[in-house]
Formats: sequence, C-alpha cells, structure tokens
Amino acid sequence: MTTSLTYLVTGGAGFIGSHLTDALLAQGHTVVVLDDLSTGDRGNLAAAWPDPRLRFVRGSVLDARLVDELTARCDAVVHLAAAVGVRRVVEQPLRSFATNVRGTEHVIEAAHRHGRRLLLASTAEIYGKNSAGPVAETADRILGQTTVARWSYATAKAVDEILALGHHREHGLPVTVARLFNTVGPRQSAANGMVLPRLAAQAVAGQPLTVYGDGTQRRCFTYVTDVVDALLRLLAHPGADGEVFNVGSAEETTIADLAGLLVERSGSASPLRFVPYEEVYADGHGFEDAARRVPDTRKLRELTGWTPRADLLDIVDAALLDAGGGTPGPVTAPSASPAVPARV
Ligand code: UDP
Repeated sequence: MTTSLTYLVTGGAGFIGSHLTDALLAQGHTVVVLDDLSTGDRGNLAAAWPDPRLRFVRGSVLDARLVDELTARCDAVVHLAAAVGVRRVVEQPLRSFATNVRGTEHVIEAAHRHGRRLLLASTAEIYGKNSAGPVAETADRILGQTTVARWSYATAKAVDEILALGHHREHGLPVTVARLFNTVGPRQSAANGMVLPRLAAQAVAGQPLTVYGDGTQRRCFTYVTDVVDALLRLLAHPGADGEVFNVGSAEETTIADLAGLLVERSGSASPLRFVPYEEVYADGHGFEDAARRVPDTRKLRELTGWTPRADLLDIVDAALLDAGGGTPGPVTAPSASPAVPARV
C-alpha cells in the first residue's frame, strides 16, 4: 500500500509533466501543477481535470514567492518547467536562459528551505557534441562556442545541475537529477521543432519530410510513459539521492532512417527533403547539431530495474496516430502503471 502524498509538478501542463501528473494521480497522490502555459496546455490535463486531487496554478517558476508558497504545502517537488526545444532556445535565447537558470534556482531554494525532496529534470543536451557512443553520466561535456545559441541551453541546465548537487553536498538537499534523452509521445507539440512530431505531421499531410543535414545524425527515442516510469522509480528510491541518471532508450536510429520509417508506416507519398544546416535557423549565428546521442542507462537499471518497453516501431506508429494518420499495424506502446511505492 502506498502512502498518499502531495506533489508539486512544475511544468505539469507540459508534454512530460502532464503524463507524470496522470501517473501520480493514478497512484492516489495529490498533484499541484504549476505551469505558465507558455508551451504547456490545459488540454494536456484533460484526463486529469475531473480528479479532485488535481490543483492547477497558472504561474511561473520565475515568481519566487509563488514557488515558495506551493513548495511549503507539498511533500515533494518534480521540476520539469523549462524553456525547451532547440527552436525556442535559438529564437528566444535570453528568455530561455533566465527561465532555465533563475526559475530553477527558485525551485531548488524553496525545496531546501522547506526540506522537500526534489527531482530535477535535466537533459542529454548536457553532453553537447560528445558523440563517442553510449554516454554514461560521467562522460565529458563537449560544447561549442557561446555565440551558438543552442549551447546556452546546455549551459543553463548545467548550472541547474550544479546548484542542485551543490545543495545536496552542502545542505543535504534530497535531490535527484534525471537527464532525459529524446522523449516522444502523445501531447508533444511539433511547434518547438522536435523532430518526431514534426516529421510525423509532414508524413500525414503528404508534405516533404525535412531532414536536417545529411540525415546521418543518430538519436534514441523513448516513449513518454517509459520516461514517466523512470521518474517514478527514481522518486521512490532512497539510493537516488544526490545522484545523476541518464533516462533514455538505447535503440539508435539515424534521422534519415526515421524519416524513411515514417513514410513507410504511414503509406505516405512524401519525399525526404534534406535541408542544409545553414538554412535551418536564420539567426545568423550558425547552428550546430549533435552527431550521435545514445545514453548508457546502466546506472538507472542497476538501481531501479528500469528498462523501456516501447520500441521504435511502437513509437513511430504512435506518433503517426497522434498526427492524425493511420498505421498498418496495431499500436502496442504501453501505458505507464508502474507499481512503485512512494517516498519522500
Ligand atoms: N531534425 C530534423 N528535421 C527536423 C527537426 C529536427 O532532421 O525537422 C533533426 C535535428 O537536426 C537533430 C534530430 O533531428 O539531429 C533531433 O532533433 P530534436 O530537435 O528533436 O532533438 P535534439 O537535437 O535535441 O536531439
């Protein structure tokens, strides 16, 4: 039997946050969602909305007083609110940086003041251009110049991690850092440039699929309910305190192969359109991509037993369905119902 707790989920109306909120409510917890609806959407909480244990607060993590008040009333905090998506970060560098650094500082300080357990969502972007192969949490970070806006996101998130781990070491803050690799699934908007919803929408609409560069860059896609499962396991595990974990699937694909699979599974007549990087973002500061991003998730698996259940085919079919298209086969992507105990 699990203890019923109250969780503050910042960014809880966002893509991952809303799925986490659904899962926490399903486990019998109370969830306070703090979201400024900049990229989040009330519609993402449609399933959760009738639940009396959901409380929605429209507000920003930049509002330190609000963050403090809400943290005081909760047992634990999951911090997912962030300016995300390469497109958004490149187009609004200053605002993104402020949200990702200042906002997180408010959350960490409030968790420290009130002695709350904190799960901080970080990103594979931390590793920058390190394309050496499966990267463990101890891998080096290889970042480009400060003039390339993309790396400011990695820098902001690194500051967040440093603040969180510093609070753990100096003040004993029970905090866990989860570095999320490419996460996909229902409710992910194509508007922020993420590749899978974007290419799926193009395939369904019969438009050319925009493959950046030569399409040989490699990624691993993880279904959102598997990511939520990992977050719940980390929240529940005392051994996760003060630690950093990669969260992601190890099934690699090139982006060109992903585009080909989307065309094949949707029965679309769309061609692939290779777009040179210089033409992708017109910010005048250039654009750099990571050639390969694969997580080593041994640490997470050994501590919690986590393995992702959805494979790339499940994920592609689910993305096509979400984009309004049909697929040849049944969608088998599982829903998250991990029976892990709650812990503060
Ligand atoms: N990408 C692409 N076409 C698009 C959007 C993205 O080829 O329309 C590529 C992008 O250059 C990158 C990969 O897909 O190599 C994943 O991009 P995304 O922005 O989703 O995530 P990230 O780069 O953070 O892994």
